Amino acid sequence: MKSTKQTPEVKAIAGKLKRHFGKTLENATREELYKASAMCIRDEVVDKWTAANAAVEKKGLKKVYYMSAEFLMGRAYINNLVNLGLLERYKTAFANLGLDVEEVASQERDAGLGNGGLGRLAACFLESLATLDLPAMGCGIRYEYGLFKQRIIDGEQVEMEDNWLEDGCVWEIERPDEEVEVHFGGEIVETWTDHKMKAEHKNYYTVMAVPYDMPVVGYKSRCPATLRLWSARAKDRFDLKSFNSGDYMQAMQEREAAEVISKVLYPDDSHEQGKQLRLKQFYFMTSATMQNLVRTHKERHGDLHSLPNYVAVQINDTHPTLAMPELMRILMDEENYTWEEAYNIVSRMFNYTNHTIMAEALECWEEGMFKTLLPRIYSIVQELNQRYCEKLNRYYPGDMDRISNMAIVAYGQIRMANLCVAVARRVNGVSQLHGAILKNDLFADSYKIYPQKYLAITNGITHRRWLAVANPALTKLMTETIGDGFIKDYRQFDKLMEYTEDEAFLEKFAAVKQQNKQRLADYLLKKQGIEVNVNSIFDVQAKRLHEYKRQLLKCLHILYLYNSLQQNPDAVTTPITFFFAAKAAPGYARAKSIIRLINTIGELVNNDPATKGKLQVVFIENYEVSSAEVLIPATDISEQLSTAGLEASGTGNMKFMMNGAVTIGTMDGANVEIYDQVGPENIYIFGANVKEIKTMQTYKTYRPGEYFEKNLDVRAALDRLIDGTLPGVSAHRFSDLYQSLLFGDYDGADKYFVLHDLPSYIGKFARAYKKYCTDPKGWQKMAAINTAKSGVFSSDRTITEYNDKIWKLEKLK
Ligand SMILES: *Cc1c(COP(=O)(O)O)cnc(C)c1O
Repeated sequence: MKSTKQTPEVKAIAGKLKRHFGKTLENATREELYKASAMCIRDEVVDKWTAANAAVEKKGLKKVYYMSAEFLMGRAYINNLVNLGLLERYKTAFANLGLDVEEVASQERDAGLGNGGLGRLAACFLESLATLDLPAMGCGIRYEYGLFKQRIIDGEQVEMEDNWLEDGCVWEIERPDEEVEVHFGGEIVETWTDHKMKAEHKNYYTVMAVPYDMPVVGYKSRCPATLRLWSARAKDRFDLKSFNSGDYMQAMQEREAAEVISKVLYPDDSHEQGKQLRLKQFYFMTSATMQNLVRTHKERHGDLHSLPNYVAVQINDTHPTLAMPELMRILMDEENYTWEEAYNIVSRMFNYTNHTIMAEALECWEEGMFKTLLPRIYSIVQELNQRYCEKLNRYYPGDMDRISNMAIVAYGQIRMANLCVAVARRVNGVSQLHGAILKNDLFADSYKIYPQKYLAITNGITHRRWLAVANPALTKLMTETIGDGFIKDYRQFDKLMEYTEDEAFLEKFAAVKQQNKQRLADYLLKKQGIEVNVNSIFDVQAKRLHEYKRQLLKCLHILYLYNSLQQNPDAVTTPITFFFAAKAAPGYARAKSIIRLINTIGELVNNDPATKGKLQVVFIENYEVSSAEVLIPATDISEQLSTAGLEASGTGNMKFMMNGAVTIGTMDGANVEIYDQVGPENIYIFGANVKEIKTMQTYKTYRPGEYFEKNLDVRAALDRLIDGTLPGVSAHRFSDLYQSLLFGDYDGADKYFVLHDLPSYIGKFARAYKKYCTDPKGWQKMAAINTAKSGVFSSDRTITEYNDKIWKLEKLK
């Protein structure tokens, strides 16, 4: 390591190395260099953060609490540098040390406290809130273990623990002075005093909630957001009484039982299970957040009636629903408010974002378990239900079917989405299509009573992380072409439209893509020892593994191409690399089989002389934010294949579009709005739309067997699953998948309509492929138009809409 020029950053890093590690620039490890430099960056962030927090308090600005069980933050280092405007200085500093800043930054572990889109949305929102100078706090759980790390061994997914805090986290600050008690179990004793019923909670057990705060810096702005994550601790951690009485094991067991609450993130996506520990986690974070919010407001304003003027709460899906009855409990039991007063406050403060309409993903809790764990919350939920049903009975007199459909408690289940719809002030969908489905379908009966409650706000992604951080080459080209104003102002993306016919620009745009393909190839060689052809088309499907996302459709398509090449060697000219990246929930057997199938198809096509060099299938291990940042900018074709009506929005689709990939997709979620932006000539749409799917469901007209019988290509592709030609597996290995496509699970048809959409997909892919091969300039123009039209999918636009329509916060000036 050569140590030449001592820039201020180099000096500061050297100082931290000396004080914290007793090391010099010459003998520090890369890990120590990462930590020392991150501490320097943190100092800058914290200055800004404390100043902003003081200013927000002084001016008495309203704040949004964005509550979410998941925050998929990824790494913070480069993002903080970009947003503070310090990247060039740190680049120079490390260059002086003979190092690359990206290399140092890659020492950071991903904060992977989320499963997928829902958790990443929360992360993008905090960054946009900070950039827009809107006062905000994200509230969640400080899971000690994030989403599992995925390895592929012999073609199968193997899960490993994600001990992300092992070496400490530079960005978090513990706030022991703000810890609160959370109470579980016990029973409720009701007494009458002053003509009022008083509920007293007895014989409960206590878990301590300790907050850890992390600043989230915005781009060239004043008001960093705070991510507050609660960690569970045993009360009386060092309970001398138990230790001294020789009950050491008892004391340790109790400690373990309390601390397990924030131990691990549930690795489940769109498939909720009513597990007791999960309910404990959700009550833990919501109770801690509500107690903290009440305490803070009382300190500042004394009276809690004004709470809705100073606080808006957004709940990200139903996981934080219990915040509503919990705040009712605090107001009534601890602050002596009447039911009506408490309800009035709560129903003006809370807003609910729905993320799915799939029945199996709508959260329900078994009444008995709920009552045992949370007796007081249970009685409040019962009362909410009773009053709500009385109200419903006035709108739908005697219509018991409708009322029991909408009830919060019914058939021994507590239904969180219904609770949200009953109490929240606003209920929003996450794309225009999804918002319409909420009104017309899932919550239609409620919509008729409260039409003003419902709105649709299309999701977004922060273009700082997904463009400025992930794709520096494209950011540089855009800056040279239209200036750097687009980084702060998403509306300026559109200025690129002027250049989409400019040959010199398109050539540079193509060169950027090529550079990013090389970057991905280098990454894969290093991480997985896989070589890929950078002169092939990069076709990517990256998202959680789920039947509704239809990775199986892509598998059948590859088998179709494989079959075509057996007959006609010219069926594929320009080679294609098919990338998959997807984690499956560990308990979702069929999803895991699909991973095995992808890898098996890879073994087949990557080695067969007829397809080798023409088709390659690559499974990228451990899809997470930091791998997405390398994969997405390298993509030519973005695969968005969900069954129409089932992907509420999608955000991966937006990331790919912004980075100049062309989408092949269904008319689902935000794909519809991508289509509206780029126009029919710059996207490949296939398959049944929502209306057609609905018709097939209503009249039960979908017969997968007919596609199998009539379409020889479909049949030949499907037969590969069971005819014994797949290498390394028995002929039965994929018979469950085969059956699921032909017969579904119970009523004789696949719920996801894979075979229905396959012929249409094959046709559209062929069109896209031909365009890429025969008209490269035309392709680059399409890709550039996709980037130019992606500004509207910035989460800055999304957050502005939430603020204008729901929160009504004032910016910190
Ligand atoms: C954006 C993102 C997702 C969501 O992808 P979808 O295609 O919208 O499902 C999931 N995982 C990671 C790591 C992401 O960055």
